[in-house]
Formats: sequence, C-alpha cells, structure tokens
Amino acid sequence: MTYRELYLQGQEALKCADIEEASLDARLLLEYVCGTTRNELLLGGEREVTEGQIAQYLHFIGSRAKHIPLQHLTGTQNFMGLDFKVNEHVLIPRQDTEILVEEAMKHLHDGMRILDMCTGSGCILISLLHYSNDCTGVGVDISAEALTVARENADRLLKGKAEKISFVESDLFEDVEGQFDLLVSNPPYICSKVIETLMPEVREHEPLSALDGTEDGLYFYRRIVAESGKYLVPGGVLIFEIGYDQGKAVSDLMIQAGYREVQVLQDYAGLDRVVCGIKSRK
Ligand code: GLN
Repeated sequence: MTYRELYLQGQEALKCADIEEASLDARLLLEYVCGTTRNELLLGGEREVTEGQIAQYLHFIGSRAKHIPLQHLTGTQNFMGLDFKVNEHVLIPRQDTEILVEEAMKHLHDGMRILDMCTGSGCILISLLHYSNDCTGVGVDISAEALTVARENADRLLKGKAEKISFVESDLFEDVEGQFDLLVSNPPYICSKVIETLMPEVREHEPLSALDGTEDGLYFYRRIVAESGKYLVPGGVLIFEIGYDQGKAVSDLMIQAGYREVQVLQDYAGLDRVVCGIKSRK
C-alpha cells in the first residue's frame, strides 16, 4: 500500500466518524506514525509503507474515530512555538491562550516573579520563562497528576533554566507563599451546564476539573481576585484568560477589588479573551 492510499483510507474513516478536521487529523497522524512532514504527501505519496506503519496508523485512526483527541494520541501540543507533552490529566493548550502569554510578556521585566494559578500542563508559565530573562515562577495546581506533566515540560523546555521554576500542589492559594509581580491564570471557566454541550473530545477526554467553573463559570475568578491582593506586590499585574461572555463580569470583580487600568482584550476572532489590571500602589 502507498503512503497516499493509507492517508485516503484514514481520511475516509474519520469522515465517516464525523470528525471535524478529518483530512488534517488523518494527515497529522500519518506523519506522526511515519516520522514524515507535510511534504511527504506532495512528493512521496507513491512510496510503499510498511506493514507495521499500516497497523499502527489504523490503530490510531480507530482511536481518533472514537473522538479521542489527536493530542492524546500524539502526546503533544504546540503552544508558543514549544512542544508541550499532554495527557488526559491536563487541559490541551489552546491557541487562544497565547493572547494571555503575549499580554503578560508586555509587562515582564528582568527579575520578576510570576505566579501561574491553575497551571495545568504548565504551558503559560513555561512559555513566559522560556521567552524572558532572569524571571522566576511558581506554577500552582490542585492536581498532582497535572503537576507531573508540568514538571516534565519544564525539565525538557527550560533546560538550563529549570531552577527558575517550581510547582506547588495547592487548592488555589492555600499552600502558596510569598509575593509576586505578575499573577497569570487560565482557570476553569465553563458553566457547569454548558459542559454537556461541548464536543466529545473535550467533554469526555479532557479533565472536568480543568473546565468546570461551576454554575455561572465565575467561581475561580471570584476566589482568585479576592485573595490575589495578598500575593501581588503593589503595582503588580493580574491577567486572566476568560470566556467570550465573561469580560464585563470579570473586569467588574477586579475593579471592585481595587484594581486599576482594568482592560478587556480580544483574541484574533474578535472575542473577549483576556482581562488584565494593576494592583493599586496604596
Ligand atoms: N493553565 C493551563 C492552560 O492554559 C490549564 C488551564 C486549566 O486547567 N483551566 O492550558
């Protein structure tokens, strides 16, 4: 069987299973199995594939047809140009979250201390430390399994800088110590009753504890805003990722808590995605 024939078979199987990006996922899985790049389909489509490759590919296609996320099969997701390991214990990093990282980078200076609340795979904090000089950070998560993934990502992606990052297993601020210049967080923010309407890839395979923001989706924002004052230095910056309809609610929470210059920022689709504000100096 040729590379192209195998690809077409995978594509067809995923289409029949109603997988949204059937062609893309069929190609990416084939590249993963064969260690090839996009060029292969264009230039090497007629080459023969081995029996082993066919078996492995069809196994992955079968899993993907059952709506297991592509990233759980390949074990990685690219975020900010870095390949993060992921599994079922962490939220798969989303491109939208890069908006938060880019905003945080505007506020970052040498020597700053960063706190990442609900760090998951560690993608936000590790990206910030990777692209900055001389900053240090603490990643917090309630899930020990998530922190295992985050630590592995930090060891691999921060190599020479691994001593700049540490992780704390904690229910929000409970076991967090010290003060920080920047607090970033992409907490669970989906309303409980919306979760059952999400695609099966998310609903059945991503950790519920990383998605569920309780009844109105705002539980974690309320708690983080209320306690953030103790952990941010005067003039420190708080930056949240939010759901598209939470801009007003989250900025109101921050304004009521005394944050100034509170701004809602949009993602590339023009939807509200990030809220940031500065802790008053008094
Ligand atoms: N901070 C992690 C991310 O952005 C995890 C977020 C979460 O678990 N809600 O991917």
